[in-house]
Amino acid sequence: MGIVVDNLQRIREECEVLKMTDKQIKEIMCRLHNDLKKGLSRADHDKATVKCWITYIQDLPNGKERGKFLALDLGGTNFRVLIINLGENHFDMQSKIYAIPKHIMTGTGIALFDHIAECLANFMKEHGVYEERLALGFTFSFPLKQLGLTKGVLQRWTKGFSCSGVVGEDVVQGLKDAIARRGDVQIDICAILNDTTGTLMSCAWKNHNCKIGLIVGTGSNACYVEKTANCELFDGEPDKEELLINTEWGAFGDDGSLDFVRTEFDREVDVTSINPGKQIQEKMISGMYLGELVRLALVKFTRMGLLFGGQGSDLLFEGGSFYTKYVSEIESDKPGDFTSCMEVLEELGLSHASDADMAAVRYVCECVSRRAAHLVSAGIATLLNKMNEPRVTVGIDGSVYRFHPHFHTLMCEKIAQLVRPGLQFDLMLSEDGSGRGAALVAAVACREAEQGS
Ligand code: BGC
Ligand code: MG
Repeated sequence: MGIVVDNLQRIREECEVLKMTDKQIKEIMCRLHNDLKKGLSRADHDKATVKCWITYIQDLPNGKERGKFLALDLGGTNFRVLIINLGENHFDMQSKIYAIPKHIMTGTGIALFDHIAECLANFMKEHGVYEERLALGFTFSFPLKQLGLTKGVLQRWTKGFSCSGVVGEDVVQGLKDAIARRGDVQIDICAILNDTTGTLMSCAWKNHNCKIGLIVGTGSNACYVEKTANCELFDGEPDKEELLINTEWGAFGDDGSLDFVRTEFDREVDVTSINPGKQIQEKMISGMYLGELVRLALVKFTRMGLLFGGQGSDLLFEGGSFYTKYVSEIESDKPGDFTSCMEVLEELGLSHASDADMAAVRYVCECVSRRAAHLVSAGIATLLNKMNEPRVTVGIDGSVYRFHPHFHTLMCEKIAQLVRPGLQFDLMLSEDGSGRGAALVAAVACREAEQGS
């Protein structure tokens, strides 16, 4: 027993590197705040890591949008096509998930857009609108330099995507070309937007305090409402006081500014990724990486002889085998109960785990997810302090926030501690994330066009 307790104790000590002190978190907030300012500034934007892209969305939905709209949602775990009917005080929506096979995620841009257009056409057939000419909003969850509401140049791929021939190109044109190559369906692409923007719009439809959109899913990012006067690169209508900024904070740390809190596990995740050196903050937070961070720690402790009696399994030693959903499952067990933990370990060929091993595995999961929640909280508190408005709602979506049992609570506690006294905030789960948001943006764009004409 003595040895076992010692092992758990030693694992706890090893995990200290995954904890960020309040002082470190304050330093992170300070650096992020500076990086946000650089992103917004004309003089510093080019060298900024956090780009703060202008979205060209200045009008939030007002509930008066009406009609039938299509939406695409690309860039998370799933690719979805949606059709939405907006009516008075209600809407109905149907959607379908399509797979994006790995060879398409890493193939050519043409093949990607052809695949999307094909799914879209099939969806329209199935929903009886194949012959109609419809407006479409396109949620495209990657860093875009927007040149307008319907023009966006891809800056870099993130997450698992790396299609050739798209970086530096307008993705709306890419999709239009693919639709034209088919020549069957009639689509007007009214808007392209980030998933953070879609989430914000979707929440703002109901809650007018919603001024931040956050994704903690496969990737991580936030958008927020900024004063137009602070957006030096904005060249649109100056009469509107506010506009939405897509921070692309996943790239925070790409210049080394997070190195003082990164661990050997973070460095390993980064070097084995398809985009080394890029999206450093995202790699400490999001669903694509959290499970792998846990796995690397477990591997280390097994090799040190502190876990599983020093006996791992083939799967444990295989990259990517520890899914982020396992972290959520393991932490959903009541304290002292290891039902889900045992199931996960069995799946990984580690059925020889003892109770002490399971307690240690859970502890590692907690350290990794807590750190992620604290980093996100530092980011949100930085935005809240910068906005300095009495009460702001944060609209949130993404698998980590949605399915992790404690993420929401961890965030509420940490943000409350980091935000300037007197500022109030609410964290709101977006009911249908970015898909409905895309349709709403398309609808607002149509509303504007009608008013303008
Ligand atoms: C992308 C963002 C996106 C986020 C969440 C990041 O990898 O760069 O554009 O909002 O993932 O999906
Ligand atoms: Mg999504």
